[in-house]
Amino acid sequence: MNELWIPAEKVNVVESVDVCVIGGSCTGVFAALRAARLGARVALVERQNRFGGVAVSGLVGMWHSLFDMTESREIIGGLTREIVERLEKRGAVSDFRCPVTARSRGVRFNSEELALELDRMVEENRNIRVFLQTACSRPVMTEDGRVEAVVAEDKSGRLAIRARVFVDASGDGVLCRDAGLKMRLPDHPQPPTACARFSGWENLGPFSLKDLIDKYRDKYPGLPGGYCWGMPIPGSRSYMLAGTRVLNCDCSRGDEISRAELESRRQIRAIMDMLRDEFPGAEFSLESLPSAIGIRESLHIESIGAITGEELLKGTRFPDAIANGTYPVDIHNDEDESIAFKRLDGGFQVFKANQLIESGRWLPEGEVLPFYQIPLSSLVPAGAANIIAAGRMLDADREAFGAVRVMVNLNQCGEAAGVAAWQCVNHDCRMDKIDAEETRRLLAKGGSIMI
Ligand SMILES: Cc1cc2nc3c(=O)[nH]c(=O)nc-3n(C[C@H](O)[C@H](O)[C@H](O)COP(=O)(O)OP(=O)(O)OC[C@H]3O[C@@H](n4cnc5c(N)ncnc54)[C@H](O)[C@@H]3O)c2cc1C
Repeated sequence: MNELWIPAEKVNVVESVDVCVIGGSCTGVFAALRAARLGARVALVERQNRFGGVAVSGLVGMWHSLFDMTESREIIGGLTREIVERLEKRGAVSDFRCPVTARSRGVRFNSEELALELDRMVEENRNIRVFLQTACSRPVMTEDGRVEAVVAEDKSGRLAIRARVFVDASGDGVLCRDAGLKMRLPDHPQPPTACARFSGWENLGPFSLKDLIDKYRDKYPGLPGGYCWGMPIPGSRSYMLAGTRVLNCDCSRGDEISRAELESRRQIRAIMDMLRDEFPGAEFSLESLPSAIGIRESLHIESIGAITGEELLKGTRFPDAIANGTYPVDIHNDEDESIAFKRLDGGFQVFKANQLIESGRWLPEGEVLPFYQIPLSSLVPAGAANIIAAGRMLDADREAFGAVRVMVNLNQCGEAAGVAAWQCVNHDCRMDKIDAEETRRLLAKGGSIMI
């Protein structure tokens, strides 16, 4: 291999804090806020120019239900509810109702307004120092295996941030990986998707995107296959479409990400060409592309206690439960563009190229699973002294991950990671030694719903 040695270099430590959070999606911001509200001094490092992760840079403005399957019991509170209420006051969020049953399934929101509100929430807290457009590049380890500092790159060059505890909210788990912790890439990670935002979509009138793609497939071979969904954006005339899909992609690799960015944009270009062809003269345009392709899955940590699909679908109540959810098992296949759902109402469906090809029940007729839980143990990397993972790199098997991977669930994981990080600092203990009962107590005190 062609290699280059970089000489050792002195780097300025620009901040020393209690807790350093890498990654500023809602997961990371919520971790930072929870730790800061408990009194920790926090550094929050995000490589994009704003917070929000896939919800903002990926244009995905949809959170699923905060209620259990009976819709009478609220199971998700905390910072998710707090920010939804704040967005509501700005007219930036709307009830999202199932068109068939009219039942509430969650909320749609304006991603840009979410970014503004996350700024405000962070800035309200003097304990948090923000590092935007700052990419964490590697940890500096002590001889006994603790992370002493992270090295990052910003406009001014290379810098270091020292902390007692680190929260890896980078999505891919880059800090855990580079700290030498055991990681696992699934055989079939769910494929990435670049969403796109359009204006004037309503001028195209009612049409079936799937039928159109079938009609134009030969003319525009770049058209995506697979499952598409979209939504109007609250408080605007824009429409968001999640229609692309890049198969067989290892999103933890730089070269694969470049391929995925280009391939997904080729698919969006083909969609535009097709729409112009079908609706000549219609007033509509491509309004924005994501600033980073949306990654569904890449590396997972090996934790002190993974969650399995079997546990999740039995509705196992964990003594260290830190999150509740109802989002179905939703697996986008990375090989053949099919998508499979196992819903908590007991039904399952498999779609291929947007056609229903299989359906039935996995629960006996009449039975429903009200909600499932996520244990704190699935966020604690095995062997980590002072790191906790929060976000989609958590330790879950294929089936459990299909359900827990959505933002209302990961937001709660972020909050728990922030509280756990504070406990580590406060009790001066290892991450795998923290008292989960205390985590749950502190989460509940801060507004989370602990069941
Ligand atoms: C197309 C698509 C549609 C989806 N639809 C939905 C949906 O409708 N509802 C839903 O709830 N979920 C949905 N999901 C799933 C959900 O969006 C993701 O699982 C979730 O956003 C993952 O959150 P995260 O915090 O782990 O990672 P991310 O949201 O990816 O955030 C990671 C953050 O870390 C930052 N970062 C990474 N590396 C570094 C570094 N080295 N230094 C500094 N910062 C770094 C990134 O810039 C980013 O801001 C969808 C996903 C995709 C891709």
